[in-house]
Amino acid sequence: MPADSRSPEMSVSDLILYISCPRRVYFTSRGFELIAEMNASRLERMLLKELALTYPEILNKCSLNADSLYHELDAALDRAQKDLPLLFPGELKETGQEMLEEAAAAARARLQEITSNLLLALEEYGREPLLAAVTPVKTESLLSSARLNLKGVPSKLVCFEGTLVPSIIRPGNCPTQGVWASDRLRAAAFTLLLENESGKEVPFAFVEYAAFGLLRRVTVRSADRREVLKISRRVEKIKAGFMPEKKEGKLCSHCSFAEHCSSGSSLMSKFF
Ligand code: SF4
Repeated sequence: MPADSRSPEMSVSDLILYISCPRRVYFTSRGFELIAEMNASRLERMLLKELALTYPEILNKCSLNADSLYHELDAALDRAQKDLPLLFPGELKETGQEMLEEAAAAARARLQEITSNLLLALEEYGREPLLAAVTPVKTESLLSSARLNLKGVPSKLVCFEGTLVPSIIRPGNCPTQGVWASDRLRAAAFTLLLENESGKEVPFAFVEYAAFGLLRRVTVRSADRREVLKISRRVEKIKAGFMPEKKEGKLCSHCSFAEHCSSGSSLMSKFF
């Protein structure tokens, strides 16, 4: 089959899974489910991501002093708490109200820092550029490339300085400077996918660290593109049946594949 007529087999999340552990790609590609435990900390991250999606509306309407910004964020967090079970009915079906309240309290404890950082960004970049950087032209739209055999859904596409660029909302920790290596890989992968769809060069992407109200611009270099292509080829090989070596690490202790993984490759080959 010619390469361009394939529908993509790999997703950007496969590439991210590969850098956490190549064997996880092997198991998920064979129908095993990577079970992410639902707990207050995961719910908190989900709430903070929903909150980040409201920044454009908030920055547009309020008078942008610390009090009004905090008040608007607080109200938006209340709405996110109410909406979350409607937005993710599958993930939250076993989740009690108590856990959701614990998560909302933890998210609310972050609001002061988010408010300060958004105000600093307004001061540093100006209202219009900041609004352009956070306002979606499209939200969670599928990007796909038969040529790369890759697909993925960035949090947003935003139009900044006349260029359509991907923006990724990350609800976890934030590095002191720049972005985490996994976020750089995401940014580069979405950039390649967007270039494939638009036919135009996409020189950078944004990463929003939602728990901090920080926006980081990532210049996508050739080395980042090379990394996406290199990992894509490795993931392709795994999906075709190659089982990578076990990479013993701290993830193993709470990995849902641990039992299968420790069975060893000879036993695994009996199953697959
Ligand atoms: S148990 Fe460890 S090596 Fe095996 S899949 Fe999980 S994280 Fe990877």
